Amino acid sequence: MGKIIAVANQKGGVGKTTTAVNLAACLGEQGKKTLLVDADPQGNSTSGVGVDRRDCPNSLYDVLVGGEAAAEAVLATEFAGLSLLPSHMDLAAAEIELALSEGRESTLKKALTGLRADYDFVLIDCPPSLGMITANALVAADTLLIPIQCEYYALEGLSQLMNTVRRIKRQYNDRLEVEGVLLTMYDGRLNLTQQVVAEVKKYFPRKVFHTVIPRTVRLSEAPGFGQPALYYDRSSRGAQAYGELAREVIANDR
Ligand code: ATP
Ligand code: MG
Repeated sequence: MGKIIAVANQKGGVGKTTTAVNLAACLGEQGKKTLLVDADPQGNSTSGVGVDRRDCPNSLYDVLVGGEAAAEAVLATEFAGLSLLPSHMDLAAAEIELALSEGRESTLKKALTGLRADYDFVLIDCPPSLGMITANALVAADTLLIPIQCEYYALEGLSQLMNTVRRIKRQYNDRLEVEGVLLTMYDGRLNLTQQVVAEVKKYFPRKVFHTVIPRTVRLSEAPGFGQPALYYDRSSRGAQAYGELAREVIANDR
């Protein structure tokens, strides 16, 4: 039974998609069958693994709103061990349609039930909001991975996120746990970075991943080539860091 990990933080641009794509690719390459679910209407995870969403016959929208079987929407990627459940711009409308539907919080969970046995890991790339799509991801997930950008206001909004997590635990998913907090865009030369790291560790004792993701241009270039960093430049610091994170996530799973 695959472990479902939601990559979420309602703050925009903190590295959710970069983390979902690169962690998924590294897990796949390390021999774990992995499904990347692009739950963001922006579709950056989809393009990040080299898939043009205009070429996808079905997307997560059809699964969440149209009742399409999730397995019908899954595509193989050109990368080892990595499959994709693609996004579509229509997914933006799913926020409203889900809000109006019966059993609205559990739609994604139900959709993934038949599928998760085929994978070791399922990673869900969430949009930057605490709307219905993120709620669905947290109801479906076993754990939550929270990327935090080492920047001013890094902790802003985290209490809202954790309140949402508590509400979902209480009402829908008492198993939900924090997989870990990931420090992204880390630049050890900056005093600010050290301050943020200290604050995050205080806020989440024992939950911060040992691996930190450096700020590196390779990680921001790779999506333009439709490749995870591992395939774009295997020896880059970014690719190495996500490989290390994958090993940590695999070790957590035992
Ligand atoms: P959104 O909230 O819009 O979905 P996000 O949280 O998914 O954003 P990303 O898209 O992963 O964030 O990253 C935001 C931007 O920062 C992107 O341009 C990405 O390429 C860049 N970026 C992410 N991580 C790094 C890094 N470690 N080093 C350098 N650039 C990075
Ligand atoms: Mg994103």
